[in-house]
Amino acid sequence: MDFLPVFQNIKGKLCLVVGGGAVAVRKAGVLLDAGARVRVVAPQIEEELTQRDNIEAIAARFEPQHLDGVALVIAATDDRAVNKQVSELAQERNIPVNVVDDPELCSFIMPAILDRSPLMIAFSSGGASPVLTRMLRGKLETMIPQNYSRLAGFAERFREQVKQRVTNPAKRRIFWENALEGVVAEKVLTGDEASAEAMLRKMLADEDNIQRGEVYLVGAGPGDPDLLTFRALRLMQKADVVVYDNLVAQPIVDMTRRDAERIYVGKKRAFHTLRQEEINELLVKLAKEGKRVLRLKGGDPFIFGRGGEEIETLSAEGIPFQVVPGITAASGIASYAGIPLTHRDHAQSCMFVTGHLKDGTMNLDWEQLARPRQTVVVYMGLQGLETLCAKLIEHGLPDSTPIAIVQQGTTRHQRVLTGTLGTLPHNPQVTELHAPTLIIVGGVVSLREKLSWFEPE
Ligand code: SAH
Repeated sequence: MDFLPVFQNIKGKLCLVVGGGAVAVRKAGVLLDAGARVRVVAPQIEEELTQRDNIEAIAARFEPQHLDGVALVIAATDDRAVNKQVSELAQERNIPVNVVDDPELCSFIMPAILDRSPLMIAFSSGGASPVLTRMLRGKLETMIPQNYSRLAGFAERFREQVKQRVTNPAKRRIFWENALEGVVAEKVLTGDEASAEAMLRKMLADEDNIQRGEVYLVGAGPGDPDLLTFRALRLMQKADVVVYDNLVAQPIVDMTRRDAERIYVGKKRAFHTLRQEEINELLVKLAKEGKRVLRLKGGDPFIFGRGGEEIETLSAEGIPFQVVPGITAASGIASYAGIPLTHRDHAQSCMFVTGHLKDGTMNLDWEQLARPRQTVVVYMGLQGLETLCAKLIEHGLPDSTPIAIVQQGTTRHQRVLTGTLGTLPHNPQVTELHAPTLIIVGGVVSLREKLSWFEPE
């Protein structure tokens, strides 16, 4: 360990920034955020700096007396001789000094900061690799959401009450772990503190009988793991059991917690490994065993995903749950295939329908679907492609209307076939396609040539 990390209280203290450019502005900003008074010394000072409160701007070259009464110094000039002089004089007087990008002249280094006050994370590569530090920040940003500060505030607010009610320290630790890792925390993070408080009170009242089980119904997006939400990723790392089906791409399943139990519940067309009711019951059973259950679904759980049915059962059984939206196939695929779903010249509206055949027919409102200047996205429509095209033509769409069918969109296996309502069903390549495929009908499909950027490998 080359440095001792400490958090210094500089509230109301005078700090000196030597330099008046963009870097100085940034450093002064951090000092002000931490409650300091800041003296800035430089022949020329950015106007932005002179306008903030608690700043004393001295438009002059650095002089030793500028160090008088100063608790901490940052030198941010582009003149090494000046920086060196500041560093030496400060160290003579035992004033902590940092020289930007010059570790040799520093008595302390400034860490990268992730501010979730009252929670603060400071980290540093000791000057070895700023890029690595920046990458680490990206990771931490994902793991520790913006509103973590709220969570810390929430915990603080109930600290005393919990302490009085749960007197055994070991038990109290478990209590807080459950609260801060479970749905209570997620409620706080989404800003719903009222529900979080109600849940916490319930947990307190029921503290002898701590039940940890809960379910996260999470949308995994259309396939590309990059399209996961931060929250999805966080819950994927947290869950003890993962219940997933066919539509969830393997690379995404692989990103769930390494030691989590993984249960495949299948679902291919006409081949259901588990019936929906059985899946609903399975979720309840696992949660009742006290597990954190991740129900991972393709796309968005509330779009042709039967997510509503799953949470209905959970709700009836009093099991805490939360739903995390995902990017639905239509929007993911549209952007990867270069097909805007709406466009001022082509479509003012967009409909999502399911083309799932029930008893061999497609029961859709054809009048409504065959309107001009509208995009129609058909989920689960491959088997019914011929019927779909014929019905749309029969109800008034020109047979020259563009149509695209996209297989395994957003993944590296993405395959796109385009044509018109009149031609596509007769394209022999269609017979090579397999699920999942998405169909997009409308003038916007003609923009694909111009707008497509995604070339599968
Ligand atoms: N909840 C999902 C849809 C479930 S229905 C969502 O919001 O996307 C299953 C259908 O979604 C598939 O039959 C197919 O039509 C479509 N789909 C999902 N992912 C897809 C993908 N990567 N490529 C093509 N179609 C996809």
